Amino acid sequence: MNNALKNLLFICVFCIGLVACKDEPVKDQKTNQPPAAVAVPKFQADSAFAMIKKQVDFGPRVPGSTAHIQCGDWMVSTLKTYGANVIEQKGSVVTFDGKNVPLRNIIAEFNPSAKKRIVLAAHWDTRPFADKDPDESKWKKPIDGANDGGSGVGVLMEIARLLQAQAPKVGVDLIFFDVEDYGTPEFVKNQDDNSVFTWCLGSQYWLRQPHKAGYIAEAGILLDMVGAKDATFNKEGKSVDAAPGMVGRLWNTAAKLGHGSYFRDETVQEIVDDHQFMIMAGIPTANIIDMRPEVKAMGFAGYTFGNFHHTHNDNLSVIDVATLKAVGETVIHVVWNF
Ligand SMILES: [Zn+2]
Repeated sequence: MNNALKNLLFICVFCIGLVACKDEPVKDQKTNQPPAAVAVPKFQADSAFAMIKKQVDFGPRVPGSTAHIQCGDWMVSTLKTYGANVIEQKGSVVTFDGKNVPLRNIIAEFNPSAKKRIVLAAHWDTRPFADKDPDESKWKKPIDGANDGGSGVGVLMEIARLLQAQAPKVGVDLIFFDVEDYGTPEFVKNQDDNSVFTWCLGSQYWLRQPHKAGYIAEAGILLDMVGAKDATFNKEGKSVDAAPGMVGRLWNTAAKLGHGSYFRDETVQEIVDDHQFMIMAGIPTANIIDMRPEVKAMGFAGYTFGNFHHTHNDNLSVIDVATLKAVGETVIHVVWNF
C-alpha cells in the first residue's frame, strides 16, 4: 500500500468517524443515556381540511367584507377555546389603488411565559381578484382561496388544537397575517409596480408596529399555499439565506417522515412573502410554499404556484389531505423537538 493510498484510507476512516459522531444522539449529562424520544401528537389532516372548509364556507375573506369579519371572529373564538392568549392587532392600510382597508392581524400565544419561542405564521385573507383566471369576465370577482389563505390557516388551527392537547416544551406563537393578498392585480399592473410591495401589507404593518414591544422569537415557519394536490415545496431562496437552520430541520424531518416527494432538495428563487418581514423583525423564518417547476414546449419555464393560483379554481377541489398531512406532520415534529 503506498503512502497516498494510506492517507486516503485514513481520511476516509476519519470521515466515517465524524459522520458517526454527528449522527449519535447527544447523551443526557445526568444519566449518560440517549434522551428519550419526544412524544409528538398525531396531526389530523381531516381536521385541518375541515378547518379549511369552514373558512371557505364563510365566503371569500376579503378585508372589509362580512365574510372576513365572521371568519376572523370564528378564528379568535376557536383559538381561545384551545387555551390561547389571543391578541388582535387592528388598524388600516392603504392598498395599491389608494383604498383604506381594515386590517386585523390575529396572534395566538401558547405558553406565553416560556422564554424560548417559535412562531408559526400564515395569511388568512384571500385575494379580491381572480386576475389569472382564463375567463376575463371573472377577473374582478374574489376567489375562494382554499389553498391561498385557507390551507395555511387550516394547518395552523389544527396545530393550535394539538398545542392544547399535548404542549411542547417551547412557547409557540401563531400569527395570522391579514391583507397579504391585495397586491396590484395583473390587469392594472405596470412595469414600476414591482418596486413597491403592494402585497404583504399585514406583515409590513406588524413589522412597523409589533403586537408586543420588542417582540422576538428564536425561529419562524411561514406556511403559504400548503394544501394542494401534488404540492412541491422547494427551498425558497430567502429562507435558505436567512434561516438555513430551520430549512435544514424542516427538510430533514420531512425526509425522515417519508414526505420527501413533497419537500424537495432544490433551492429556488427568492420571493417576497410575509417571511421577509418576519426576517426583518429579527426572526429567522423559513417559508414552506408550493412553487412548481413549469415545463413548456421550449423546456423549463420557471416556477409557478400551480395553474389554479389566483383563479376561481383555487377552491376546495384542489385541496388534498395527503399534502396537509405531509406539511402538518413535518411542522409539528420540528416544533415539538425544537
Ligand atoms: Zn395569493
